[in-house]
Amino acid sequence: MNRRITGRLVIATHNPGKLAEMRELLAPHGVEAVSAGELGLPEPEETGTTFRANAAIKAIAAAQATKLPAFADDSGLAVDALDGAPGIYSARWAGASKDFNAAMAQVERLLQERGATTPDKRGAHFVSALCVAWPDGHLEEVEARVDGTLVWPPRGTAGFGYDPSFLPNGYDRTFGEMTSIEKHGLPPHGLGLSHRARAFVKLQELCLSQEKSVG
Ligand code: IMP
Repeated sequence: MNRRITGRLVIATHNPGKLAEMRELLAPHGVEAVSAGELGLPEPEETGTTFRANAAIKAIAAAQATKLPAFADDSGLAVDALDGAPGIYSARWAGASKDFNAAMAQVERLLQERGATTPDKRGAHFVSALCVAWPDGHLEEVEARVDGTLVWPPRGTAGFGYDPSFLPNGYDRTFGEMTSIEKHGLPPHGLGLSHRARAFVKLQELCLSQEKSVG
């Protein structure tokens, strides 16, 4: 039986962008979101080997510390020809200076080394894992992905991270060339395009009020 989110929810992030996105999503469902950053909670070390495990580590730590249900996400880019790298290390490939141009260039160097020069060899996907943890140990977990191809050079200045290099399947513009509304493709604009939007839709259906999020 899925457990529904009601009342107060801790968003286990110190990232203002993610917090704003989650508050927008939760507002219509009568859920009051407070952030781990606002509550001064420490950031736990992400020691998991999967997106799902790292989302759970963050959500469980915040639920234990606050005795409230807590939400966390983990995400990244997995490149087929690189055996899924950078994967859970997507943020780290940008280094302390968060230089995603350098991270995209590193991915490109490795693709060239492996002879991945044609679109059919340059497949990649973004993954988003979401976890809600309750203080009694109950977990609700969802994961979603969006498949695409890596382009070089990167295109567009919108979005963040690896967006300018990622061309989602079926589109002729990269995430870096899309507005955030197009990128997420949520109702009424679509049924969810980005990995994060698709995971949000799943979480809404599992854990939020009866309101239909799609269709
Ligand atoms: P985390 O989920 O905060 O650990 O960060 C994951 C990293 O994956 C981000 O810093 C980005 O580099 C990358 N990433 C995750 N989602 C996206 C996205 O929607 N667009 C571009 N890069 C992303």
